[in-house]
Amino acid sequence: MIAPTVSTDATGSTVCWSTTIAFIFTTLATFLGIPLFWYYYGYTAFDWTLMGILYIVTGMGITVGYHRMISHKSFESHPAVKFVLLIMGGWALQNSALIWCADHIRHHAHTDEDADPYNASKGFWYSHIGWLFMDTPYREDRFAEKLRKDRMIMWQHRYYWPIVASGLFLPFVLGYLVNGGVVGGVSCFLLAGVLRTALVLNSTFTINSLCHMVGTQPHGKQDSSRDSWLISFISFGEGYHNYHHTYSHDYRNGPKWYNFDPSKWLIYSLSLVGLTYNLYREKV
Ligand SMILES: [Zn+2]
Ligand SMILES: [Zn+2]
Repeated sequence: MIAPTVSTDATGSTVCWSTTIAFIFTTLATFLGIPLFWYYYGYTAFDWTLMGILYIVTGMGITVGYHRMISHKSFESHPAVKFVLLIMGGWALQNSALIWCADHIRHHAHTDEDADPYNASKGFWYSHIGWLFMDTPYREDRFAEKLRKDRMIMWQHRYYWPIVASGLFLPFVLGYLVNGGVVGGVSCFLLAGVLRTALVLNSTFTINSLCHMVGTQPHGKQDSSRDSWLISFISFGEGYHNYHHTYSHDYRNGPKWYNFDPSKWLIYSLSLVGLTYNLYREKV
């Protein structure tokens, strides 16, 4: 009899080998493949520019789309905006909106408890990335129930992997056309595909880890969430995490006009032309 290839921790979680192997591969590609390619071939200005553009596009897909629109219903949007945000978020390789948002709703419902998917009381590495390698027994269907009734969310869930592939294929095609040839395609794929994905992943991971460890708690000490304006600069405004945990329905994470919160600026700008509406603001 073949023994099951899982190991179990004290809370009953089991190691998720598919994610673990995928991350080992991505880490090797990032830390070995990208520098080696730089040494032998170099990268073009187009590669760096597209990496910056896709960092913003896919990062905002997560913060505006997955987080503020779907998880917290802090605003509504035209279906075309929602569709585009779901594609942008899918390109970030952070799972389908159905799974990401159900996990995030559970994070707010059970912050700092065993059922919190990225429980910061288990330490930096667990909340930053370690939780991804565990299949948790706390993934209850009630957190996904309402999301399953949304046809566009279910469509994105069904076609999640083709969407991910298109987000990696696009830099290759653009690099092939602009830089010229297969080597130009690979160079653009490595920066605007692989490195961009690694950077956006870590930007999101930082909210789950450092924003529950470093910073101030001006809005409440009900949980470990912290405000950090510094982290907002790499995460499109999500660093004001203590405000967000206290007033999670607000479309803003940084409520003051001077708070660096590009996600709220995008949502507000779209509302001026009628593409987003019913923006929820706390009266604080
Ligand atoms: Zn949230
Ligand atoms: Zn949090």
